[in-house]
Amino acid sequence: MEIVEPLEEAIDMIREAGGDAFKLCFQCGLCTSSCPWNTVRTFMPHRMICESRYGLVDLEDEWWWMCTTCNQCVSRCPRGVAITDVLGSVRKILLDFEYRMAPASLRSAMGSLTGEGNPWGGKRRNRSDWTKDTDIREIKGGNEALYFSCCTPAYDTRLGNVARATGRILKKGGIRFGILGNLESCCGESVKKAGNGEVFASLAKSNIDAFQKAKVKEIIATSPHCYTTFKNDYPEMGGIFEVNHVTQVLDRLISRGKIEFTQEVNKKVVYHDPCYLGRHNGVYDEPRNVLQSIPGLELADELNARENSLCCGGGGGRIWMETLKGERFSDILVAQAVQQGAEVLATACPYCILNFKDSVATAELDGELKIMDVSELVEMAL
Ligand code: SF4
Ligand code: SF4
Repeated sequence: MEIVEPLEEAIDMIREAGGDAFKLCFQCGLCTSSCPWNTVRTFMPHRMICESRYGLVDLEDEWWWMCTTCNQCVSRCPRGVAITDVLGSVRKILLDFEYRMAPASLRSAMGSLTGEGNPWGGKRRNRSDWTKDTDIREIKGGNEALYFSCCTPAYDTRLGNVARATGRILKKGGIRFGILGNLESCCGESVKKAGNGEVFASLAKSNIDAFQKAKVKEIIATSPHCYTTFKNDYPEMGGIFEVNHVTQVLDRLISRGKIEFTQEVNKKVVYHDPCYLGRHNGVYDEPRNVLQSIPGLELADELNARENSLCCGGGGGRIWMETLKGERFSDILVAQAVQQGAEVLATACPYCILNFKDSVATAELDGELKIMDVSELVEMAL
């Protein structure tokens, strides 16, 4: 039997990069049996935790790039191991030492984030083009909330409608808000989870400076990824704001009678819990309350809902990486929604919408299943 010596230098590097949590693992394997990858292929997070613990990291192993940071394993781990932090710390080391080994699409997103403040290759000067033909204006500061659309609705033609619908509803509900315009940068969440803490820090600093200059007190975010970052990461960097996800604001407006519906939306809707709204932040009820309040709408949960929701596959920087046909979690979710007789698969995250849209197109289900944001369904009923 070959005896393998732990690589102390590598172990120290993983510790320094934030992966110290590996020491708590007792190799029960529950993370592996919880991981959604094992519904489509083999992936063993417990093996990677073990490799990290002994510093035996193979820099060329594609597994380091697979985790979507869905938090399923973390929420079930009996030892409370911050599994995604361990995997993220190895990603950081891989980027530092073998940048060329990172998936090409991820490197390209990082280049665009560094140059233009968004991962989609769009120009910074075009960031607020989605507001053309609307009366959404830049924030004036003081008592206005900041509406943060996220890069994806800002640059993706389909997703732009989500931001515009949100803007129109907020105005109808009497919310005074503005946008930051071209000064706004990506929140940095996904690039951080992809292991690039430097780009994250630079994006976060730029946003915090711009928010403070604009005297922002409250932020309303469309993306659960922006929401979690502003709420949980920016405060320790000096950016303290009141942060709400759009569905939380809509829930409040509806329950206080500030938004009244005039139309019925007679559709069977299945709601998908985005990982960063649900498992990461416990926001399960508000989007359901909003959907349930829409006249005529028949709401159902997915087969695996709330804490057990299956990830769409877009977190942890995976939204920028290619996932092979037959291995996309979003394909499973779309097929399940069709089986349930849904006419609409609704969610509250731009990444989920992008992935579901692709799955619907690949499965040629365009006429059968619509993918919509909660805000778009609300707007239909106004
Ligand atoms: S579930 Fe937790 S303790 Fe068990 S193998 Fe995974 S990381 Fe280790
Ligand atoms: S966070 Fe999700 S994708 Fe990543 S290892 Fe855990 S269960 Fe798997």
